Amino acid sequence: MIGAGSAGCALASRLTERPDTSVLLIEAGPPDRKREIHIPAAFSKLFRSEVDWNFSTEPQEHLKGRKLYWPRGKMLGGSSSMNAMIYARGARADYDEWREMGNDGWGFDDLLPLFKAAENQERGASAEHGVGGPLNVADLRCVNPLTQAFLEACEAAGIAKNPDFNGSSQMGAGLYQVTQKHGARMSAADAYLKPALRRGNLTVWTQVHVARLLIEEGRASGVEFFMKKSPDLQQVRAAREVILCAGAIGSPQLLLLSGIGPQRELEALGIPVVADLEGVGGNLQDHLNIGQSYRCTKPVSLSNAESIPNVLKYILRKTGPLTSNVAEAGAFWKSCAELAECDLQLHFAPVHFVEHGLKNPPGHGFSLGAVLLMPRSVGRIYLRSADPREAPAIDPSYLSNEEDLAPLSEGLKLVWKLLESKAFDAYRGQEVFEKEDAASYIRAHAETLYHPVGTCKMGQDASSVVDAKLQVYGVPGLRVADASVMPKIVRGNTNAPTFMIAEKAARMILE
Ligand SMILES: Cc1cc2nc3c(=O)[nH]c(=O)nc-3n(C[C@H](O)[C@H](O)[C@H](O)COP(=O)(O)OP(=O)(O)OC[C@H]3O[C@@H](n4cnc5c(N)ncnc54)[C@H](O)[C@@H]3O)c2cc1C
Repeated sequence: MIGAGSAGCALASRLTERPDTSVLLIEAGPPDRKREIHIPAAFSKLFRSEVDWNFSTEPQEHLKGRKLYWPRGKMLGGSSSMNAMIYARGARADYDEWREMGNDGWGFDDLLPLFKAAENQERGASAEHGVGGPLNVADLRCVNPLTQAFLEACEAAGIAKNPDFNGSSQMGAGLYQVTQKHGARMSAADAYLKPALRRGNLTVWTQVHVARLLIEEGRASGVEFFMKKSPDLQQVRAAREVILCAGAIGSPQLLLLSGIGPQRELEALGIPVVADLEGVGGNLQDHLNIGQSYRCTKPVSLSNAESIPNVLKYILRKTGPLTSNVAEAGAFWKSCAELAECDLQLHFAPVHFVEHGLKNPPGHGFSLGAVLLMPRSVGRIYLRSADPREAPAIDPSYLSNEEDLAPLSEGLKLVWKLLESKAFDAYRGQEVFEKEDAASYIRAHAETLYHPVGTCKMGQDASSVVDAKLQVYGVPGLRVADASVMPKIVRGNTNAPTFMIAEKAARMILE
């Protein structure tokens, strides 16, 4: 297996529950030893560090030619070791649509037992929630007063309270539940991998970069890799299957490097074609976020999180603002009342979050952003060269479909309205971005919400890469199991859906 991220850790753990299987899991990044990985409020300190792939997109034509920064985890746990820990599954309709696209066994009713099997819901079991699973799902231990102000603002704007975004309906405003245990992050490595390491049938290699897949006699038979400090390529072979879990960027990149992809593109780079699969790297979808940040006139925001009393609170009692996931609350909403499903999601942070927190003004602040949940714009990942050390080109083509702009503008107007409402009067200082026409504001300030998916699409049409059993078309012995197989992005954050994909893959493989 390649990639010890959300899907890789979960799948390796489930497969090795059976003593007659044996798994080698190969991860390019290091073990998850950095302290900031485990302290929830510190996650953005991992950006641009050695545990981040530190990707950038191609210049985005419809975002004033800007290249957007895309963080991705490069360590045990992958992106689940640097994400904002929000536990959200998406809407029932998302998965029913996957099934309607021809993917038998992928409707919501098929998948709910898998979401539940993955989960240990601290509120207890219910029709929608499971207990006893590896992934702890908790309520926040410390809610900032600014977050309470956001919830009041929503209520005053007619957005009803929703205590459970993963319950019967997504719609409404509320606090997010988080993948944490005892006030610390629970990554895929914590939930699934570490408990499984005691098993003799699981081997994990870290700081080993897979360069390409070995395809011998038409079958995936292993991988070629290099170690951090040595340029030499080495090989390792699999007895049964090779499983790609390198994420929505890494998985299509490795398929392309191995000659599995659009023939013309591969030939242009001198890569021998193993399978002409048009869809590899295509169907790239992401959630584009448009936000505003205000200076806060009271010293209550998370900028204080690292004060000595707060550090002591965290060390001694695992509570206080350092347990915050930053994006503490949010809402699911409709840009137009007639829609059957929500198409907007809000994330509120009781702190500045300007350009991923990398360009925060000094002092206290608070931020709110809106994402378009079902973008029509679709992009792609492609190779710049046949060199596995070079990052692939990432072109999400944000807003290339003009129909995305109107609903996102509605989201932005809702953000402005809520931040300017009475509930924030006691806190509101100067705005960070000057208000202007919604479209130009979006083009100037929109950023990723970190949810790229879809680049090894599951389906039956000519643009599909894997079938409903996640087997790569035309290459026996090879599967993909991670966020890249989603045929369509879901209405929500993508970590819980990725765990579900791994749970489903494990069952299919073991069967
Ligand atoms: C900053 C940030 C915040 C986010 N916040 C949330 C949130 O709050 N809630 C939520 O639900 N989702 C969130 N997400 C998204 C979520 O974390 C991802 O959708 C999910 O982790 C994807 O899982 P994956 O297994 O597909 O990929 P990843 O978890 O990214 O795993 C891929 C793994 O493969 C490894 N790899 C890649 N290429 C190679 C190679 N060539 N050789 C060896 N190893 C390789 C990588 O190092 C990585 O460990 C966030 C993501 C980020 C980056």
